[in-house]
Amino acid sequence: MFFHVMLTTECNLQCRYCFGEALEDFDVGFGGFDVDYSLPKRVSYSVGLLDGFCRHDADCVLIFYGGEPLLCLDEIKRFMDNVRAKYFIVQTNGLLLDRLEPEYVNRFHTILVSIDGDEALTDFYRGRGTFRKVIDNLKLIRRNGFKGEIIARMTVMEQTDIYTQVRWLVENKEFPFSSIHWQLNAGFWKDFERRNFKKWSEENYNPRIRKLVGFWVDFMERNCAVLRLYPFLGIANSIIFNEEESLLRCGGGWINYAIQTDGHIIPCPSMWGMKNYYLGHIRNVNPLRLRKIFVGEPCTKCEIFTACGGRCLYANVTKRWNASAYRLVCKTVRNLIEAIHAEMPRIQKLIRQEKIRLEDFKFMKYNGCEIIP
Ligand code: SF4
Ligand code: SF4
Repeated sequence: MFFHVMLTTECNLQCRYCFGEALEDFDVGFGGFDVDYSLPKRVSYSVGLLDGFCRHDADCVLIFYGGEPLLCLDEIKRFMDNVRAKYFIVQTNGLLLDRLEPEYVNRFHTILVSIDGDEALTDFYRGRGTFRKVIDNLKLIRRNGFKGEIIARMTVMEQTDIYTQVRWLVENKEFPFSSIHWQLNAGFWKDFERRNFKKWSEENYNPRIRKLVGFWVDFMERNCAVLRLYPFLGIANSIIFNEEESLLRCGGGWINYAIQTDGHIIPCPSMWGMKNYYLGHIRNVNPLRLRKIFVGEPCTKCEIFTACGGRCLYANVTKRWNASAYRLVCKTVRNLIEAIHAEMPRIQKLIRQEKIRLEDFKFMKYNGCEIIP
């Protein structure tokens, strides 16, 4: 099982799509849900409690998460020293990676670092100077011996040209990324009316995704290597290994849960404080017997449910975007899946020619990449 360990509710950045949206959304309310807004800012349970919880599961993977988890360096070190997890992963904005000693950094299986593309775009969304600090820190941890996977995690909205920005992350000379995931900022806030999502998704994002899939396969042809562009990799993996099922690809609510700062377990980190979805406390539940939470309509009636998996439990249950706005997001999912299918003959041919291998399409599932953006 995978668990996002929410170390703090605090963050050292004020990004547009998170802090900015939260301010705009402040007065909108959260219809029908009983939300606990008084969670402790830092972890309030003991390390022993988390260790006891984890020990029930030999495959327990802990993903440090926040807020910004690296604001809690002492807790990270204490947990890594005392909790018997199979792997540790961190999902961070990267600003404080230089503050954690290499002996700990080098033990992470994977580091997911927030970066939205080139310097101008990253700093536009995340604040001036962010890009430079993050890249310098990534270079530093590689110099200090970190050998695990570094995944660039992009948040994508109207200012992003997905084709240009993903290519830039892959091809820049200073710190080229071979693992990239992105998530659309869509359906998480009550913001559809103040956005330009319809025009952008139809005229920019969807066609640029199709072009990017073409680039992905061209890259395989030219370099005999499969870039780990997670949304593409996840879909192609399911097609190649014939593994379609109607479960959330992020794992939220069935194999990848979150532990709040107070120790309560919730289906996914975005659902913090939503008491209707509390699934017990680490002090008294077995990680292998947690209740499962599944998406409802419209996903359960959708003809591509087995390929999509439902995209996002949080968006599905909170319905912060109305039905027609939700359908626009689904159109992006359909476009992405169709684009991969259209390129499968070329991919299969490269496999037959042994330019790439089936193995190249395998990855650690539920590692914090949601697959469906
Ligand atoms: S495409 Fe939309 S409706 Fe269909 S399963 Fe995915 S999120 Fe649900
Ligand atoms: S995709 Fe949705 S349900 Fe899954 S982890 Fe992200 S916010 Fe949670």
